[in-house]
Amino acid sequence: MLPTYRPSGTFTMSFATLLPAAAALGGVLGFVYQLGIHYIAFVKIAVVLWIACGFGAAGIAGLGMRLSKCRSAMIGAGAGAIIGLAAVAAGHVTEFWLKTKSVQGTVTVQEYVKARVDGGWYIGRRSASSSNSFPKKSPDIVGAGVWAVWGVEAVGILALGAWGAARMVSRPYCETCQQWAGKAIVAFAVPWAPADAADKIKQAADIDSLLAISSSPPPEGAAMLPRVPKKGEEAPPKGTEYREMAYTLTGCPVCDDFGVLTVTLVTTKQANKKQIVASRKDLAVNVLIDRAAREKVLAAARVWGGVPVA
Ligand SMILES: [Zn+2]
Repeated sequence: MLPTYRPSGTFTMSFATLLPAAAALGGVLGFVYQLGIHYIAFVKIAVVLWIACGFGAAGIAGLGMRLSKCRSAMIGAGAGAIIGLAAVAAGHVTEFWLKTKSVQGTVTVQEYVKARVDGGWYIGRRSASSSNSFPKKSPDIVGAGVWAVWGVEAVGILALGAWGAARMVSRPYCETCQQWAGKAIVAFAVPWAPADAADKIKQAADIDSLLAISSSPPPEGAAMLPRVPKKGEEAPPKGTEYREMAYTLTGCPVCDDFGVLTVTLVTTKQANKKQIVASRKDLAVNVLIDRAAREKVLAAARVWGGVPVA
């Protein structure tokens, strides 16, 4: 197996200063999220907002931790969970404010929570208060169910925040230059791939085997890319399959000694006369590329019309 990039687990203490700022942004995220939940009554949209809030927490935490040059997945996950928690807390404070701002006198948190838990939810309607205009049996979700929904909501946002931020800080980083690998240096695709190419790439023990299919021309009669036929043209038969091997080289923006290569099999299939479907499968992810290997990848890219991305 070829060595692949693993985050070093190192971090700088500047994450401690960035974390409160990120948590404040997480609070803003929770406020906006809750406004959406409060004013949009559709359950499906609420689920979309919920997932978006989780990704938002991950993005804020991940960017903050990347700014502090944190390469520890654990600290990334912790930060993601903290930002998620800030968003969830801000969301509940926002809802408390929205529900009590027009109420005369003071409402204690206990009174508010009891009213919410007893009032429950009518699926598809904004809140229990709508029940006055829509007389209905008891709420669809009430009591322990309300707590369960709040629990699932919180756990989902925390988990998504933790997972996403951990992924973001685990992206390639050049330890020599203290730089994150930026955009792809070069990306190219060998526009055909034999049926056994995927297995060969998965088992590749060196960079030459990884690039092997890029060094030979396509064989006679290699499968053509399925496409929507022009007028008067025959469509390729249903099920015609076309395999493309895509290579993406990412690396240090400063030196040539640190790079990672990801190889993806892109399969395109003629589903019917007018429709083609493509699927992608990563065969090798973030294989470490030194200076010598980098030259080989760049040479292959030149042959196959690789597009310099940066
Ligand atoms: Zn470097």
